[in-house]
Amino acid sequence: MSAPGRPLRVAVVGSGPAGFYAAGALLTADPPAEVDLYDRLPAPWGLVRFGVAPDHPKIKDVSRAFEKIAARPGFRFLGNVEVGRDMSTDELRRFYDAVVYAVGAQTGRHLGIPGEELPGAWGATEFVAWYNGHPDFQDLPFDLDVERAVVVGAGNVALDVARMLALTDEELAPTDTTDAAIEAIVRSPLREIVVVARRGPAQAAFTTPELKEMGELAGADVIVDPAELELDPASAAFAESDTNARRNMEVLRELAARPPAGKPRAVRFRFCVSPVAVLGDDRVEGVELVRNRLESDAAGHVSAVPTGERETIAAGLVFRSVGYHGVPLDGVPFDERRGTIPNEGGRIGDGVYCAGWIKRGPSGVIGTNKKDATETVELLLSDARAGSLPQAEQPDPAAPLALLAERGVEVVSYAGWEALDAAEKAAGELRGKPRVKRVTWDDLLAAARGEAGRPLSAA
Ligand code: NAP
Repeated sequence: MSAPGRPLRVAVVGSGPAGFYAAGALLTADPPAEVDLYDRLPAPWGLVRFGVAPDHPKIKDVSRAFEKIAARPGFRFLGNVEVGRDMSTDELRRFYDAVVYAVGAQTGRHLGIPGEELPGAWGATEFVAWYNGHPDFQDLPFDLDVERAVVVGAGNVALDVARMLALTDEELAPTDTTDAAIEAIVRSPLREIVVVARRGPAQAAFTTPELKEMGELAGADVIVDPAELELDPASAAFAESDTNARRNMEVLRELAARPPAGKPRAVRFRFCVSPVAVLGDDRVEGVELVRNRLESDAAGHVSAVPTGERETIAAGLVFRSVGYHGVPLDGVPFDERRGTIPNEGGRIGDGVYCAGWIKRGPSGVIGTNKKDATETVELLLSDARAGSLPQAEQPDPAAPLALLAERGVEVVSYAGWEALDAAEKAAGELRGKPRVKRVTWDDLLAAARGEAGRPLSAA
């Protein structure tokens, strides 16, 4: 499976879960491949660092598995290198026998309604990247000086956004949420966060443990209108047969029956309503909603159909949390509608593969990417065995580094990331947090060089 006398050389682009799991499968192949893992950021782990909510540290613990993969012989991390900017996709191919794109889905889908671009209307992706310290999102002018926020969507990301907005100082303090986000959330006069689902409670995409957590918040009550939990026959049948839907219904009924405890904030769930317009002149002032009825087709799919009934709710912030969407890469095919790279089992074309959200779309939990990336790597290895991989023109491991050096690109190695990681953890230890993230490009790069950077308390 290797070219004469040398191991297979593979570039994996994107160091989130799919990228790391792909690297792991390649490094443990027989014989093992060599892997260069590229990321445009100086820090690896993708959504584990920049997506998973900071009050879910157990989910972030999966990074320990990534550390073990990185410790294997044949692994290199090339951080702070943007494929498509610092090195073209064609150039990349010259250095490797195969390339695996695991670049995720980097933007949020839009609603396509008037007013969506008003100041105060945000993508959940932007808010999530902001509170998680992504260096490209720190200057976004999040103004939480409002009394009501609307979160559109009924997935786990919508729950993350609603929950983060509802957390208290005591709940946020032991997390690695950025200081700016903690201050804005704690100081906000927010009274109510409304989660708006276009279909009914039985069709909600969020999972039961995440829903249950909403009922355990120190500073926020949960409000559910029992009338919105009444199910039509098709939904009732579905809720009987689907474990997640049945458990969600149990939790929602329990929440609906609970009298409010008078906590400072409330998270209100609304079902069978869709926003038709974001209202306001210079900034968001409200949302117009239409009530939906549910219709099932012959295949059992339940869709939301708008009725004529409309209502307006006052709100100063709107977050659309209706799914992520991939971004095209120059030189790689792209399906605009689905936001993914067209592929068969992970193969895009000769020697070019994909894994994770850019392959299958933005669904599943972190572990789903292990199976997904393994499938891609198995196909890649069987192509290698069949002799159908085009061999690298310049397989010398020094060649990509030389090109990047010539272009003045400062590559952050795995040792550089370890220095950055150690600096963040040391700063965190002083404040009872898992880490204090460096949140600017300069500070990230300085720490990766082993420099102290700006005092972290000012970050
Ligand atoms: P998701 O689970 O696909 O949920 C998207 C939600 O947006 C659905 O409720 C969907 O409703 C709704 N939606 C789509 N288009 C809409 C529109 N035009 N108007 C109104 N609503 C619309 O996506 P996600 O929340 O972004 O999460 C992505 C993946 O990451 C999921 O697999 C999720 O479970 C996972 N995740 C897991 C965790 C965790 O385990 N704690 C945390 C975060 C994310 P319909 O069903 O009606 O289409």
